Amino acid sequence: MPYLKSLQEAVQPFTKTVGRDILAKNPKTLQLNITRKCNLACKHCHVACSPARSEDMEMRTAERAMQILKEWDFTTLDITGGAPEMSGVYRYLIDTAASMDKKIMSRSNLTIFNEDGYRDLPEFLKERKVEIVASLPFYEEVKTDKVRGIGVFHDSIEVLQRLCALGYGRDEELQLNLVYNPSGAMIPAGQDELEAIYRTKLKDEYDIDFNNLFSMTNSPIGRFGEWLDRSGNMDRYLTRLCDAFNPATVDELMCLDTLSVDYDGSVYDCDFNLALGMSIAGPHKTIFDIEKEDLIGRKIRTMNHCYTCTAGSGSS
Ligand code: SF4
Ligand code: SF4
Repeated sequence: MPYLKSLQEAVQPFTKTVGRDILAKNPKTLQLNITRKCNLACKHCHVACSPARSEDMEMRTAERAMQILKEWDFTTLDITGGAPEMSGVYRYLIDTAASMDKKIMSRSNLTIFNEDGYRDLPEFLKERKVEIVASLPFYEEVKTDKVRGIGVFHDSIEVLQRLCALGYGRDEELQLNLVYNPSGAMIPAGQDELEAIYRTKLKDEYDIDFNNLFSMTNSPIGRFGEWLDRSGNMDRYLTRLCDAFNPATVDELMCLDTLSVDYDGSVYDCDFNLALGMSIAGPHKTIFDIEKEDLIGRKIRTMNHCYTCTAGSGSS
């Protein structure tokens, strides 16, 4: 990862800015990054997924994940990837977690629901009341296609209309949340204002309803980190993030009560640390050897990419 040097040197170390250790609490959310396969290859992807990747969670790892979901009393299963729908264990995980009455969130790029073999998934997810967290980089075609590829906006709108027709975004039990990412090296505008604009545009032009819009700052790692480094924008971007540091966000960080597990069972404080290969502190590194007690009070491993989560009103 050649961009790591410029990431670390661009601004003062994150730990110095925070001024204290960040310690994990009781874990509540089990986040599983089950595959690197994806039908898209977005410019900002921090885990560098694409159709060329083949890494996928094995069934024995999925079974162990479901064992700890139950025994460690997690409240929420958060399934991500890649396009998690493309994983061989996706339906098993959702069926198992649904049988335990856990809250289930599934991240989606939406377009996968238009591909052969996945068209029935909206109904599958509806029956199990799975919350869909869907990326829609912008409410206009040009900007979305610039980030995700030609035709992605059109496909995403078509899928959102299908989801709404099933009751997503309309029925209280069928939550549909959208995710916004800026298309370049900038910090997103206020979430509430943006949500109001998305709501009006999507309703008026496409009759689409949704519950919430999450505004995400792009993390300076993965493909986006490489681009920042290559184009000489790393310093400027990190300075912006660092200048926008908001101490109030530190007690709300996602990593405080989340355990992030990779497709191979290795464990991380969050999906960004996973992408960097920064496994959790302590001797135990996989869901096969770690115990719940190892997680509580552990020191979260931070680096300058963490400024992404503390800029403005926060983002994780
Ligand atoms: S950002 Fe999401 S949709 Fe895009 S390549 Fe990465 S995993 Fe796939
Ligand atoms: S990137 Fe964000 S969520 Fe991950 S360890 Fe840093 S502050 Fe926590």
